[in-house]
Amino acid sequence: MKKLTLKKMSLVIATILATQLSSCATTTKDSVSGVSRSQFMLLPASEITSMSTQAYTQTLKEAEKKNTLNADKAQVERVRKISNRLIAQVGIFRPDATQWKWEVNVEKNDALNAYCMPGGKIMVYSGLIEKLNATDDELAAVIGHEIAHALREHGRERMSQAYVQQFGLQALGAILSKGTSAVVGSASMQAAGMGSQLFFALPNNREQERESDKIGLELAARAVYNPDAAVTLWQKMEAQGGAKPPEFLSTHPASANRISELRALTPKVRPLYEAAKAGK
Ligand SMILES: [Zn+2]
Repeated sequence: MKKLTLKKMSLVIATILATQLSSCATTTKDSVSGVSRSQFMLLPASEITSMSTQAYTQTLKEAEKKNTLNADKAQVERVRKISNRLIAQVGIFRPDATQWKWEVNVEKNDALNAYCMPGGKIMVYSGLIEKLNATDDELAAVIGHEIAHALREHGRERMSQAYVQQFGLQALGAILSKGTSAVVGSASMQAAGMGSQLFFALPNNREQERESDKIGLELAARAVYNPDAAVTLWQKMEAQGGAKPPEFLSTHPASANRISELRALTPKVRPLYEAAKAGK
């Protein structure tokens, strides 16, 4: 690697900031729930989406082989109906997401888990539905929360941060010596190779959790699901803790005051719920 002068280094950083960050200062439009934080996004969204789609397709294939994919027709129908009502509301936060290739599936698995991969690939485990004895409103709360992670591109954000930690200076040096942003693409391919593992291994941080709680709550309210259910959902989730905490909590660390924050937030979105209910 060439020796970088401070001046050159800051020029490179400025160029990267200008080309990469300006287009994605924040992923979603602000709304009633109030989420407007600027985000650090180095990896291209298209790459994250294609990587996620591959990982999701692979998961579906494996589940199919084990006969655990959408095994309970009534359960799948229920989860899809709830998800589709939530997905119908995503345009409020980002119009482009209405064009995503959304997919909703249920895997027969005792673990308490659910996720929405970048680009709108939803998976709900039967364990979450059955062990929590979740109501429709509660399922809407958890699926809405997961959809919010995808809308905010939290996975991409976490992978970008991990990427900078791993390849940051190397990538900067490569750009400087070749003077092309294509190098960012090839270097980020290395990151993409471990991308799906990163998606599941890196926990959402507290701020990301808070944002997803807010947006998820608003999505549910607009889709005519009672926002109070978010509180009971998390209470049930935490009650499952004990010796082996639910898988869900490993990627969605819950803060001690999450439930009180959700309670405080509910009145903000309740008018949306009441209005949607009246207009139904
Ligand atoms: Zn979460």
